[in-house]
Amino acid sequence: MTKTGLFVTSLLITFFALKPAFPKTNLINPAPNDDVIAGIKALHRSPEKEMARLKSLLDSNQSSAKRHEWLYLYALGKEKRGEYGEALTLVERCIDDANTSALMQQRAKLLKAKILSNTGDIEEAIGILNTIKQWSMNHGVIQLNIGALMTLGAAFENIKEPKLALNNYLSAYDLATQFKTQVPPSHIAGLIGAIFLQQSRFAEAKSYLNEAYEFAVKKKNSVNQSHLAEKLARVESGLSNFTAAMEFYDTAINIARKNNDFPLLTSALIGKGKMLLGQENTVKTTNTAHLLFEEAASLARNLESKSIYFDSLIALSRLALANGDKAQALEKVKLAETVIENTEVGFPHLEAAYLKLTILEASGDKQATIDGLKQYIALNEAITESLDKSRIQILRTLYELDEVEAENSDLKAITNLQADKIALNQQRNVLLAVITGLFLILSALLFILYVKRARYQTRLERLATTDGLTRFYNRAKILELLDGCLKNIENTDQKFCVVMLDIDFFKSINDKYGHKMGDDALRLFAHTARQRFPNHVDMGRLGGEEFLFIFHGTDEHQIYEQLDSFRQMLKTASTHQLCEEIKLTFSAGLKVVNSPQSTTAILEDTDRALYEAKETGRDKTAIIKCL
Ligand code: GH3
Ligand code: MG
Ligand code: MG
Repeated sequence: MTKTGLFVTSLLITFFALKPAFPKTNLINPAPNDDVIAGIKALHRSPEKEMARLKSLLDSNQSSAKRHEWLYLYALGKEKRGEYGEALTLVERCIDDANTSALMQQRAKLLKAKILSNTGDIEEAIGILNTIKQWSMNHGVIQLNIGALMTLGAAFENIKEPKLALNNYLSAYDLATQFKTQVPPSHIAGLIGAIFLQQSRFAEAKSYLNEAYEFAVKKKNSVNQSHLAEKLARVESGLSNFTAAMEFYDTAINIARKNNDFPLLTSALIGKGKMLLGQENTVKTTNTAHLLFEEAASLARNLESKSIYFDSLIALSRLALANGDKAQALEKVKLAETVIENTEVGFPHLEAAYLKLTILEASGDKQATIDGLKQYIALNEAITESLDKSRIQILRTLYELDEVEAENSDLKAITNLQADKIALNQQRNVLLAVITGLFLILSALLFILYVKRARYQTRLERLATTDGLTRFYNRAKILELLDGCLKNIENTDQKFCVVMLDIDFFKSINDKYGHKMGDDALRLFAHTARQRFPNHVDMGRLGGEEFLFIFHGTDEHQIYEQLDSFRQMLKTASTHQLCEEIKLTFSAGLKVVNSPQSTTAILEDTDRALYEAKETGRDKTAIIKCL
């Protein structure tokens, strides 16, 4: 691998290693567009104003590309108001709108399922929710998946299937905890805690409800806080932590009073009263409970909720019975019965009948007791029968919903796998970064080594081909170059000139001024030659004070003149730099080479020309023509 190749490769590896395996944007959780979110927030803040705005938009823009968004938001507003019929029509128009994107369509379907679940069309709702779950799993839209799971949970709560509701809520909670979505896990925790409370699983209820409660406090959501406080009060009471329960009841009561939340206030008053009575039966607690129940009953009378009014009357009846006031107890329980008279027969009817039976029995009125007992037995049978009927319906739904549960666990497995994959990818990235780092260090070291070796080799080569004194090529190298030129001429017809030079009377310099001066003279000769012929002349020392120059040009006259000017320069330089009395001259033999021939022949010819120059008076150049 070349050194550039080496570096490019390591850079590429670095780039891929540092690039995350998953893009930064959270593809598994794309949010709906800003307009829809803004619309949802506006519906929450000022529903009336936003609904009016949406209505006028829908009325005046029949063919806008945004129409489906307004339809969705308007349907959402209607659903919040409980106007399910209109909400359903609107959301169906949104689903069918040509501009609705696939994701938006799924969101609209989720809303449709919510509406259907509220109107009692549970089976259709569940069918739709299953398709949404499938879609969101295939597309990795976790947020939508959570929405579907929560709506399924609510649907199951509607059909009194707390176990199935719980499973769905727990799956949603797991997802919301694992992935950062817009649904806070604490919100789902509230729903989960409520079901655990219903099932009297107080310890589990406590941890989930606490999470939701702390979140509501943090968010300063007093409505949620008060409702959660009432639930936590029941949980603490169930765990026999009465002091904590009392505090939660008081918090719930105080906030509910402030918020004019009468249903909650009534429930909390009844709850607190019942707890007080359950703890101890002193005059003080009885009186306090009585006050609480009275307030609850007077509030409940004006409420739409029959069940709360019923609860408060039953509580008052029990209280009266405990105080020995049987007439009052009977009056309250009878009133309680009239409150639920026209509702479907269920456990409240049974509860009232049983309480009434107890009161009658205590009063000693035999005939009335027998009548009460008959009523109780008849009710019991009716309830068992109706329970059987609804059990069949529930079993059928359960059968269909086995599939849903299976899908839930599939989804859990998939999300776990996804999380594992992300973790593995992160580990891989770290490992790759480390390997790349090491690789970079290694290539840097290799590069330094390579440069050092290259330098060393050039130095070695120079030493092997250079004459130490003159720094001209040595004999072997200049002859090698001459050989190269001769080979070249065979192939390319490139002609050249060879000149052999010899310093005149050199021995006398040595003799007169010493060997050192002789060396200086040789160095000066070389230095001046380099000045005169900076380029395109290969200069070598054959030995002693004898040199061979190769000129890459064939104009012998020009070379002849150049040698003359070199001669002049040398004379001047030697007088100036060596000794005033020394005038260094040289004789030269020149030969133009324009045809292939042997090295020996050239050396012989130039030597002959040099000899001729020496013989005819030195300090001159003699030319030999090629034959
Ligand atoms: P001519 O003009 O006929 O060439 O006379 P010359 O004295 O130059 O020739 P000759 O061959 O008689 O002498 C060459 C001398 O060069 C002999 C030797 O001592 C001297 N010589 C050879 N190599 C070196 C060297 O590296 N340093 C020094 N100082 N002298 C050298
Ligand atoms: Mg000589
Ligand atoms: Mg000589």
